[in-house]
Amino acid sequence: MTANNCGQTPQSGLRAKSLLRPRRTTRKVRVGELWLGGGEPVRVQSMCTTDTRDVDATASQILKVEEAGCEIARVAVPDMEAAKALGAIKKRIHIPLVADVHFDHRLALEAIRQGVDKVRINPGNIGSRERTEQVVRAAKERSVALRIGVNAGSLKILKDWDQWPDWSAQDWARQMVQEAQEQIAVLEDFGFRDVVVSLKADDLSRVLLANRLFSETFDIPLHLGLTEAGTLLPGSVKSAIAIGTLLMEGVGDTIRVSLTEDPATQTKAGFEILKSLALRQYGPDIVACPTCGRCEVDLFKIVRDFEKRLDQDPALFKKAQGKKIAIMGCVVNGPGEARDADFGVAGGKGVGALIEKGQLTRTLAETQWVDALVEKIEKKG
Ligand code: SF4
Repeated sequence: MTANNCGQTPQSGLRAKSLLRPRRTTRKVRVGELWLGGGEPVRVQSMCTTDTRDVDATASQILKVEEAGCEIARVAVPDMEAAKALGAIKKRIHIPLVADVHFDHRLALEAIRQGVDKVRINPGNIGSRERTEQVVRAAKERSVALRIGVNAGSLKILKDWDQWPDWSAQDWARQMVQEAQEQIAVLEDFGFRDVVVSLKADDLSRVLLANRLFSETFDIPLHLGLTEAGTLLPGSVKSAIAIGTLLMEGVGDTIRVSLTEDPATQTKAGFEILKSLALRQYGPDIVACPTCGRCEVDLFKIVRDFEKRLDQDPALFKKAQGKKIAIMGCVVNGPGEARDADFGVAGGKGVGALIEKGQLTRTLAETQWVDALVEKIEKKG
């Protein structure tokens, strides 16, 4: 098989799905109207950056991430005022709401009273077994799911250490799983099964090893992510490797890409990971070339403008779902690549050839490309 000038083989259309191991079988957990695990689609979550006490700001940020496709929204609950705001937020949104609670189990109890769909607790800082028991009892009474969120940086055991332990990634993974297991035991004593677990760290090795280890033993759905992924480009790459590797191994039921970016961007990054693995559909698959010395149109601008049109028009984005659209810089490789797409454009000197199902149908000025592609999507409806 020879690669062409763009570095893609003629088999680049081979779907990633055929490379995935079968999904791990887990129990199914209900979170509001959604189900996690048990063969359900991998769900994409995000977390608000607003002050939860500000109901207007938080509800409108959640409505915005809903538009981006986010399926579960989490909010921080740092104090009782934030906990008491949850009921009002919940009334204004359409996706399940998760309360993120650290340190004070009373906040978890209030969040449950306010009607949230899931509570995330951190076993490293929620306190005694008795406190966890109170939360479990309340969650059971109201059929609220719990997520045991274990973070490497806030493991219980670290409280007893003056210095950061000199552990291997394997040691970290074992400790993370052990602390999750201790909390699961408390939940199981109450016959509580609506639990999801996350095992996060800021580096790949601990995340991969901990999640693999956990999935070998438990049938509990896993929420995947890094604790702090970083800024857009490095954070997306790191998250795609960590989350993507586990998903390819069949591990993971819900994901969050924790970028230093707004929650809508985090949501989009999550869906792009799932789309690359053919696990979910999310808008079109835009195959744009990187350009080279052969390109004689402003391809970067054309692609940016096209993405902007899709971004600003959710109905158009939806209509383009599942379509493969090629935007290629020249006719050397462009038509070949576009042949594998539903439709596309391949550039010449300030012009382009519209290609539909492999056939060249029209010549377009460079300024007409975006409109022509939008028109094609609209017609395909
Ligand atoms: S300009 Fe042509 S040869 Fe260069 S990367 Fe784009 S499609 Fe490939």
